[in-house]
Amino acid sequence: MKIIESITEMQQYADQLRADSKKIGFVPTMGYLHQGHLSLVDIAGENCDTVVLSIFVNPAQFGPNEDLDSYPRNEGKDIELAREKGVDVVFLPSADTIYPDGYQSYVELAHLPNHLCGLSRPVFFKGITTVVTQLFHIVKPHVAVFGEKDFQQLATIRRMVKDLKFDIEVMGGPIVREPDGLAMSSRNAYLKDHQRKAALSLSRSIQHARQMVADGTTDATSIIQQVTAILSEFAENTIDYVSICDTETMDPVSSIEDSALLAIAVNLNKIRLIDNTVLNRQG
Ligand code: AMP
Repeated sequence: MKIIESITEMQQYADQLRADSKKIGFVPTMGYLHQGHLSLVDIAGENCDTVVLSIFVNPAQFGPNEDLDSYPRNEGKDIELAREKGVDVVFLPSADTIYPDGYQSYVELAHLPNHLCGLSRPVFFKGITTVVTQLFHIVKPHVAVFGEKDFQQLATIRRMVKDLKFDIEVMGGPIVREPDGLAMSSRNAYLKDHQRKAALSLSRSIQHARQMVADGTTDATSIIQQVTAILSEFAENTIDYVSICDTETMDPVSSIEDSALLAIAVNLNKIRLIDNTVLNRQG
């Protein structure tokens, strides 16, 4: 497995792979790898010849009062996990090379960030679309794989790739969960044992919503009320949003016609947890 830190070296290696007709699959991450990340490596590996995984905790997507400094990091273990998983290249750029002195170019979508996570995290999506654009220019992938865990992020990248004509296929991977249902996340490392029950209310409320739809409920307000009630059983949970919305635009919908996204964000003390599911009327 190659470990590349230099942007130029990564670009040259990507050029060489392309000259050798190798299809490049790319999995961008912020590290502290878990099975959710590694499932995306599998998808990239099944569809490509060479898998590049990047690890970069992107300062541009964190607001001033967010957890950039405390975000969990373990580069040594990440490299081991990537090696075991058969990743071909780990790309580890530094913040100074991604955002050198004088940096001033940003990529921002007009509407998608005005929903869900974008409302409480104003710089979040601008930071993501900017760094992903840079990473696409550096890694030069044919395929890029993102998790449905961050559904709005996946929708944003799909939209950006379409709007800006990136010649890249975007693939989504399903949410990987712990055996108890908790969606895997690097931030789960912050959870203390006694907070686990409150954290599990997210996946439990999602299961409940799925059951409501299976039983014939289509009214978004009723589902949102019941999901909110389950999340509110725990005093530590501060709900950021519970939304039922269009799967591409994230615009709220009042009823589930065919399918719609149920998306939830909760701050458990200061730990931000998100979860979602696509509710399908046909089961
Ligand atoms: P992150 O390191 O949190 O920025 O995540 C990197 C990529 O892994 C993103 O595309 C995430 O959506 C994806 N990801 C994170 N957690 C999961 C999960 N539990 N299941 C599937 N994909 C995930």
